[in-house]
Amino acid sequence: TPELTRFGEEMSHLTGVRAIMKDIVETLRAGQGQHFINLSAGNPVILPEIEQLWRDCTQELLASPEYGNVVCRYGTSQGYEPLIEAIKNDFNQRYGLELSDRHILITPGSQALYFLAANAFGGHNATGRMKDIVLPLSPDYTGYGGISLVPEAVRAYRPTIDVDEAAHRFRYRPDFSQLSITDDTGFVLFSRPCNPTGNVLSGEDVQQIASLAAAHNVPVLVDSAYAPPYPALNFTDMEPVFGENILHCMSLSKAGLPGERLGVAIGDPAIINVLECFQTNFCIHSSRYGQAIAARAIASGELARLAEQVIRPYYQDKFAVLAAALDQAMPNDLPWYLHNGEGAIFAWLWFDQLPITDQNLYEQLKQRGVIVVPGNPFFPGLREDWPHTRQCVRLSLTASREDLAEAATRLGALVSEVYQAQ
Ligand code: PLP
Repeated sequence: TPELTRFGEEMSHLTGVRAIMKDIVETLRAGQGQHFINLSAGNPVILPEIEQLWRDCTQELLASPEYGNVVCRYGTSQGYEPLIEAIKNDFNQRYGLELSDRHILITPGSQALYFLAANAFGGHNATGRMKDIVLPLSPDYTGYGGISLVPEAVRAYRPTIDVDEAAHRFRYRPDFSQLSITDDTGFVLFSRPCNPTGNVLSGEDVQQIASLAAAHNVPVLVDSAYAPPYPALNFTDMEPVFGENILHCMSLSKAGLPGERLGVAIGDPAIINVLECFQTNFCIHSSRYGQAIAARAIASGELARLAEQVIRPYYQDKFAVLAAALDQAMPNDLPWYLHNGEGAIFAWLWFDQLPITDQNLYEQLKQRGVIVVPGNPFFPGLREDWPHTRQCVRLSLTASREDLAEAATRLGALVSEVYQAQ
């Protein structure tokens, strides 16, 4: 290979979960014939009603004179005007906002949006000073580990843990006594609901983070990939929080369009403008076909309706099935804890004092035909050595109810042996 630049070096290897996914793909390939229960998937399930929605919107687009204008022409970098209009109207009506079209930017997926923000507001500033990308509640989305050309800019904070020992449940909370947001902070970023944990930060916690950041003119990006109004993958009451320094960031991936790459940022026009220019340089704009069908599904209200009536109940049921199966299968006398299922499409398990590493647990579980994701890649930017980072696993709720129950049984048996062998 030719010589790589420093950035080339950074960007040419896989970070976090992507590296494990490679191992999983190889395991599945090598184990042909063997049936694996695969609880590693981040890909949403194709729900028939949702697929039909996108099919109907596509048919409408095909039949409309707008078709050529959508797929045969470039558009503005900010995004396809009818999509921006549909989001603006929906959010103004739903949340009593006064958004103009200058408050909205469409990106090719939300991962791209975080990449733009990470390199516009994080890393070395004009005078060479390091501006941190602060993750206030670790663990969080593994993809944040790869968004900055200067990875050492990512700085995560260890949470406070609330435990209900008798119920085998726990929940993370931001530790405001440790969290530091200063003039050296570029921006703050967290997912709400959270991938991998299913945590939903309370409205008060979001407000407190936003006001700490506002004091230093620091933007707060709320990754709302699982939030209402679409895909509405919250199982607990939550409202999006808006504010001067808050950038509300959405994704249509979990609303059934991961392949079309659609991300949305809503916030201060000055921030939107910076990201829009960066996007023009980077890739011109997101695909217009995806934007055009999304515009129809949002303007008609169908996407919000189906999110609440189809997407949310589907995953909420899966969480309930898995939680019940774990309560049945896991030994009551061991310190295992399931994070409260407040949203998203995963379950997050913590084994306190686990005698082996999460990686080792993953390997042993694989030998019993169950594939999960070890927890350690979900702590991007955490500087301290914390045993907890090697005591967790993520389980995907995309598997069937039967597979979830069977996986819980096999996990329970393995974990009993592992603690006993200690
Ligand atoms: N943020 C979170 C919390 C996610 O879970 C994901 C994908 O799984 C993304 C962002 C990236 O999504 P996309 O780039 O498809 O919008």
